[in-house]
Amino acid sequence: MAWINRVKVRWNDVLCKRCHICVDVCPVNALALVKNEIIEPGKCVESGMCERYCPDIAIELINRSKVRGPGEKQE
Ligand code: SF4
Repeated sequence: MAWINRVKVRWNDVLCKRCHICVDVCPVNALALVKNEIIEPGKCVESGMCERYCPDIAIELINRSKVRGPGEKQE
């Protein structure tokens, strides 16, 4: 198995080393490491922080077009 879709992020169980960084950097606590898997129990606001800080490119937003830069308005 490799990429697994959650609600707004997809996670790669092969690339992921379970370092917990994505869980720690999420500003709304949308992610959790449970039973050795990254799951998305919270409400993701598509900040892109997990994707940006994952050292192993193991998590990304499913809909990247919604990632906003500083100063850009929310849709
Ligand atoms: S930051 Fe990347 S490697 Fe670390 S737990 Fe999250 S998905 Fe896995």
